[in-house]
Amino acid sequence: SDHQLEYPVNPDEMDWQKLYPHFFDEATNRMTKQVTIADIGCGFGGLLIDLSPEFPENLILGMEIRVQVTNYVEDRIIALRTNHADNNSFQNINVLRGNAMKFLPNFFHKSQLEKMFFCFPDPHFKQRKHKARIITNTLLSEYAYALKEGGIIYTITDVLDLHQWMAKHLEEHPLFERLSSDWEDQDKCVQIMRNATEEGKKVERKKGDKYVACFVRIPNPEIV
Ligand code: SAM
Repeated sequence: SDHQLEYPVNPDEMDWQKLYPHFFDEATNRMTKQVTIADIGCGFGGLLIDLSPEFPENLILGMEIRVQVTNYVEDRIIALRTNHADNNSFQNINVLRGNAMKFLPNFFHKSQLEKMFFCFPDPHFKQRKHKARIITNTLLSEYAYALKEGGIIYTITDVLDLHQWMAKHLEEHPLFERLSSDWEDQDKCVQIMRNATEEGKKVERKKGDKYVACFVRIPNPEIV
């Protein structure tokens, strides 16, 4: 349960050097970059690995609640870093075990993130379980806090009901605006997200549908 997890009191208390040692400056004792891309419920890490070379200047963080899965992704990243030690690839990705539905503001400052991914989140099919879904009004306000203006929320699922649920909640939220399918077609992250994750590959093998919805974080309304 959450009680066994350790959370930083705020993002500055977090030991980011441990996750991204190549982005720590010994001279100033500070990180040279902050995390700007988050993969919520990253599972086995396929998205992180495919995003890594596309965004070499961004720190990318997967958040995953299952211990074993988190350990697996950690090992995978260590192996990739070791095998690419000559060119320092994969130094910009890592994974953190945690409950993204509860402690996001402990890890990210306001307006810190440029992109958040929600790939094939658990559907929680039953009506009484819907409140356990990772996209709800309350949580969207937290995501809006962590995202900067112009930042993007990416969602993909093979469950039509969940797709409609996520799109509806995002559409109803005052701080998000849906992006067009033309936009989706030309965005490289949408292409990567469709194929990179383990769940996405499974759906591909079963020739299932994949529903995508992307939203931009719009400015806070002016208070007059
Ligand atoms: N995104 C991956 C993919 O597309 O292959 C994994 C999809 S899997 C169906 C959903 C993942 O979300 C699981 O690995 C689960 O443990 C994780 N998860 C569920 N609730 C979470 C939460 N509150 N915080 C972090 N991870 C969570």
